[in-house]
Amino acid sequence: MTVIDLRSDTVTQPTAGMLQAMTRAPLGDDVYGEDPTVNRLQAVLAERLGFEAALFVPSGTMSNLLGLMAHCERGDEYIVGQQAHTYKYEGGGAAVLGSIQPQPLDHQADGSLDLEQVRAAIKPDDFHFARTRLLALENTMQGKVLPLEYLAAARQLTHEQGLGHYLDGARLYNAAVKLSVEAQQITRHFDSVSVCLSKGLGAPVGSVLCGSRELIGKAARLRKMLGGGMRQAGVLAAAGLYALDHQVERLAEDHAAAQRLGEGLRRLGYAVEPVQTNMVYVQAGERVAALKAFCAARGVAINAAPRLRLVTHLDVSAAQVEQVLEIFAAFLNT
Ligand SMILES: *Cc1c(COP(=O)(O)O)cnc(C)c1O
Repeated sequence: MTVIDLRSDTVTQPTAGMLQAMTRAPLGDDVYGEDPTVNRLQAVLAERLGFEAALFVPSGTMSNLLGLMAHCERGDEYIVGQQAHTYKYEGGGAAVLGSIQPQPLDHQADGSLDLEQVRAAIKPDDFHFARTRLLALENTMQGKVLPLEYLAAARQLTHEQGLGHYLDGARLYNAAVKLSVEAQQITRHFDSVSVCLSKGLGAPVGSVLCGSRELIGKAARLRKMLGGGMRQAGVLAAAGLYALDHQVERLAEDHAAAQRLGEGLRRLGYAVEPVQTNMVYVQAGERVAALKAFCAARGVAINAAPRLRLVTHLDVSAAQVEQVLEIFAAFLNT
């Protein structure tokens, strides 16, 4: 049975073109800095996003950890959202491995952090306090796109206050495609940015951290320390390069599929949050475990959370969205 997997956009299979690009990539030992394909991926992304340098890493979690550790020393603090991946979903890595304290703040409805609350959370220079060093944002945030004016205001605040400004841009390109802007219109407001190649972009592995030459130098040292130095990694970087050249614009299709899915579920009577990019959040209620089993028996994979997240991606076609809607409709009659 063909499985329609709506749990995440991490589940995609590499496309035929991508696999071909991987087999043809020139390779070398990247710990020696000699993998031409890794070097090209790093140069391409740094250039496109407007940074001096970039670093290819195995995962978004490592990219975020390196970003936080490159900005913050032991006993420093970063301001971050309660629901942010860097804070909530990375095993406390910044605290465990970097001795960096988070200062979490609640999100506003649009996914942003209130900048007056951010300002109020910045600790004075006093030895009672951790040193507030960094504001870390996420975009898209649970599928929501942070407005460009908001990013500019956050940039201004961090400049005024002498803080670094970090973006977990795991889904940066979903935000850029949604806004119909070059990704650089988003990244220009930040000192450093992490981008996942293995989410909507459809590569099997990898993230890239971008920043100043100095910051990336620090991150490269930390990457080696954490065991993230890879050898002929160009075979993976080639997938990322292919994704950047061929699978960015098509994110609009995922957004359209998510819109259609959201509308269809709303028509069935589900409470659906407004859909912006490739994520549909729906109140699945108490019967969600039964819904999950019902879907699984019909070749549709979903998670079992009362606030259910359905994610569209490269391997979910428009026709499959219609199939999913029929299955949800059938479930309502059980
Ligand atoms: C998936 C994700 C990450 C981490 O990426 P992994 O490659 O799974 O470690 C970081 N931030 C956000 C917002 C993500 O969605």
